[in-house]
Amino acid sequence: MKSIILLAAPAAGKGTQAQILTERLDIPHISTGDLLRESLSSGSKIGNELKEIMESGKLVSDDLVIDLLKTRITKGDCSNGYILDGFPRNINQAIAYDKMLMETSKEIGYVFLLDVDYDTAMKRSLGRLSCPNCKAVYNDMILESNPMVDNICDICGSSLEKRIDDNEETFKNRYQTYQKETKPLINYYEEKKLLCHIDSGKKKEYTTNEIIKVLNLRK
Ligand code: AMP
Repeated sequence: MKSIILLAAPAAGKGTQAQILTERLDIPHISTGDLLRESLSSGSKIGNELKEIMESGKLVSDDLVIDLLKTRITKGDCSNGYILDGFPRNINQAIAYDKMLMETSKEIGYVFLLDVDYDTAMKRSLGRLSCPNCKAVYNDMILESNPMVDNICDICGSSLEKRIDDNEETFKNRYQTYQKETKPLINYYEEKKLLCHIDSGKKKEYTTNEIIKVLNLRK
């Protein structure tokens, strides 16, 4: 099994798809946003600085994210591949990642761009509810994505949380950051003939099936 990179605008469905794929493929889901949020909850000085940047919708420093990722992908559970959600977020990170792979003689695997329009992504952001325990994602503005019991995770029963950056103002900033910093990665991976466009504007099952079809085709 090779690894998977999920590229997309904020709230386009990366976390949802990664969560489904991690079960289906039995490889870990690595979200740099989750890794960063875990360091926030420690309440340290660096945690407070990070919180401010994440609340503003900007990107945190490349060095910090690259270090976090390097540490994570060298763990034993990553030896058969993993799903990257939220990394790389800019060209500098993509180049650092290529170098990491070269040093460990690993292949890059698959790069999926989850396509979604601005309004759908905004709706997904404003209604998003996440499980802090098992990372499942729900949406209280989209009927089919509601949890069965209000604010309770269907899978593990934990109380669901709203993310601090899921508000209209931060969403707009995050979208701008995406346009400026992350979108250039489309060309970067297209030139390497790695990019595969997936429609992420429909039901989540449709998107998963499209991804699985590509994985089966390009084994
Ligand atoms: P996410 O959970 O992927 O939506 O990320 C939430 C926030 O964490 C982003 O808005 C950034 O501030 C920060 N973040 C996550 N991944 C990265 C990354 N690869 N590079 C820089 N900042 C990141």
